[in-house]
Amino acid sequence: MEWKVQLFKLNYDQREADAVADVIRSGWLTMGERTVAFEREFAAYLGAGTMAAAVSNGTAALHLALLALDIGPGDEVIVPAQTFVADINAVMLVGATPVMADCTSFEDWNMDPADIERKITDRTRAVLIVHYAGVPCDMDAIVSLCQRKGLKLIEDCAHAPGASYKGRSVGTFGDVGCWSFFTNKNLSVGEGGMVTTRSDDLDREMRYLRSHGMTTLTLDRHKGRAVTYDVVRPGLNYRIDEIRAALGLVQLAKLDAANASRRKIVEAYRREIGGLEGVALPFPDRDDRVASSHIFPILLREGIERLEVVESLKADGVQSSIHYPAIHHFTAYSGMDLGATPIADEVAKRELTLPLYPDMTEGDVQVVADALRKALVKIG
Ligand SMILES: *Cc1c(COP(=O)(O)O)cnc(C)c1O
Repeated sequence: MEWKVQLFKLNYDQREADAVADVIRSGWLTMGERTVAFEREFAAYLGAGTMAAAVSNGTAALHLALLALDIGPGDEVIVPAQTFVADINAVMLVGATPVMADCTSFEDWNMDPADIERKITDRTRAVLIVHYAGVPCDMDAIVSLCQRKGLKLIEDCAHAPGASYKGRSVGTFGDVGCWSFFTNKNLSVGEGGMVTTRSDDLDREMRYLRSHGMTTLTLDRHKGRAVTYDVVRPGLNYRIDEIRAALGLVQLAKLDAANASRRKIVEAYRREIGGLEGVALPFPDRDDRVASSHIFPILLREGIERLEVVESLKADGVQSSIHYPAIHHFTAYSGMDLGATPIADEVAKRELTLPLYPDMTEGDVQVVADALRKALVKIG
């Protein structure tokens, strides 16, 4: 079907096409010089002495972080209730137990530091936070809690390239930052990701785990820098490739301008629907943090039939989505006691995501706002 305003659109142009064509002409497809450049530039972009290793996707990044931190059976990891399933899955697949912490409030859906503290037991090893919608979590409180309790801190920054807290990039506060460059993220390569850390040991460990535990790369041997290799531990193949790395370099160069456009669209939305009866907008602006505005979530009033709103928007050519359905509603986790999260449960029922992408226009915002007003009059 033809949408008037779709949820997300890539901001690709000739630059991405040229970057891919260059790789193809170069005759070298697997991890090579473009990957090294992408890692170097991404690390420099984050600052704070960060090291970066590119990987095949954001879920691989989470898996590597947990493996490198030696988290496994018997360990508990505190995760947000308000997130994508990849966080819970990665924790479960290393044999650890996810324990969910609630949102801070109906205005701030990021993890509540006080609830994280309540969920800590003597088996808790790590806290895995998500900067939901690209809004940085309350890092002062979370970092000091993790330090006080001796817990590892993993930041899932899938929504948050370009977001910062008190002038410092997200992903540089914890032990490992995990990034996704999936198509609909702020930095898009199709499938791709990054692990970042300020620890030499973790950086080395994640690089081994990314590539079969091997001590040299195909490129090193091709360049004559190495003849053979050792395997120092059992590893995986979570490598990126040169096509994705080349796309990543172009997208990184576009990131700040694209995020600025996203923030303008968010401002336009707030003007248009900020006072709308039946809708609340979370995450009021705060001057200690800059959001990457990954998605634009709204909260419908209790009692409004969300699926009817979705259908009405659809009839007017507006695509919408849900971020995210409640974890415990999925078959894989039914029957598991993941911890009480009353605010997140309510948000999961009433959340609706409206279209947001860098090249969206204020006219598009108008179309969405009109369609939403119409839907609420019909349904509300
Ligand atoms: C997209 C996403 C992931 C997974 O990233 P992939 O690259 O799709 O594997 C993990 N966590 C969150 C919060 C995400 O939005």
